[in-house]
Amino acid sequence: MKNNSATTGENAATSLAISIIDLTKKYGESFALKSVSLDVQAGEFLTLLGPSGSGKTTLLMAIAGFNRPNAGSIRFGSNEMILTPPHRREVGMVFQNYALFPHMSVFENVAFPLKLRKVPSQERRSRAMAALETVQLSQYAERQIDQLSGGQRQRVALARAFVFRPRILLMDEPLSALDKKLREQMQIELKQLHRQLGVTTVYVTHDQREALTMSDRIAVINHGEITQIGTPKQIYNAPVNEFVADFIGESSVLPLDCDSAGNLVFSDQIISMPAPNQSQGAWSLLIRPERLTLVKSESGVPADSLLFHGVISEFVFQGDTALALLQLQGNYSLSIRFNTKSTESIEHIEIGQRISLSLNKKDIILIPRVD
Ligand code: ADP
Ligand code: MG
Repeated sequence: MKNNSATTGENAATSLAISIIDLTKKYGESFALKSVSLDVQAGEFLTLLGPSGSGKTTLLMAIAGFNRPNAGSIRFGSNEMILTPPHRREVGMVFQNYALFPHMSVFENVAFPLKLRKVPSQERRSRAMAALETVQLSQYAERQIDQLSGGQRQRVALARAFVFRPRILLMDEPLSALDKKLREQMQIELKQLHRQLGVTTVYVTHDQREALTMSDRIAVINHGEITQIGTPKQIYNAPVNEFVADFIGESSVLPLDCDSAGNLVFSDQIISMPAPNQSQGAWSLLIRPERLTLVKSESGVPADSLLFHGVISEFVFQGDTALALLQLQGNYSLSIRFNTKSTESIEHIEIGQRISLSLNKKDIILIPRVD
């Protein structure tokens, strides 16, 4: 261990790759980003996830230096970047539409950033070829861009983005133009590549499954504000509100009342949990469809469970799972996802049938109630 304090300080600072503080960007009178704060750790794969128009591209472009925020700070390590032009930020970028140079070969495209940085031609060749090797395209080096498939073009774009060893890799919906199968394959490849390169990555998508698949952490963004940041598991298992819950995965929401003992209750059933007392206001129960279990006999239900009784109003077989809707008393309904494994014995379920479902209390998620 070095005990030089300057070195120690620098090491501490470099573990935080990007630090965004109170970043605001307005277009005319409307806010594209509202006081956004976000830290990205060195080597992390962080995804900005949100609906169209939520501010994802604006935030990514601000990090890259292609737009000028109205207020706030963007630091790389401990260096303020807000006034640094894009080409001095050492950031690699990949876009949805590839943005490759159509008149150059695959090799020339990938070597281009090195040429810009005046890397000598021999080193340029070996580094560009190594990058093409990494994305498994070395045998296509001399091809023209229009002779490549969509997936291959995106690999070229990727190689071009990391060939100059940027300190940060930014990707804006890079897989959206690809069909589903290829997209899913590329998600795994990108993840492997990230593991191999270890480069700090900020990735933009509106696809929740893609975000869950790829990310170390996800920042959910809506109307220019970050709603929640966490690991895929944290975001899925403990969404902070209905927007996040709806945007990531499927869910049912049941409004809860508070009884005189301070328990939260749903219809006549005590959820048997004291209401979260620090916060005022009403609560809803959020239920993930796959957490519900079909009750075969009530004596077999674990003590620590909630029970829901109702009538099946919809039942759809979807291959690996089946989706059903349970109509509860009082005009409420629950979505349920059954595993179609034969052991689940759901083959007798049909519309109109009266069934009961249990939910382990560990799977209870409480969110603020919106009426
Ligand atoms: P996303 O990438 O999440 O779809 P954007 O960052 O592109 O969202 O846009 C955020 C908001 O800012 C949207 O309301 C969009 O219309 C607006 N916006 C983006 N770019 C511009 C621009 N150049 N001029 C005016 N408004 C813009
Ligand atoms: Mg966008």
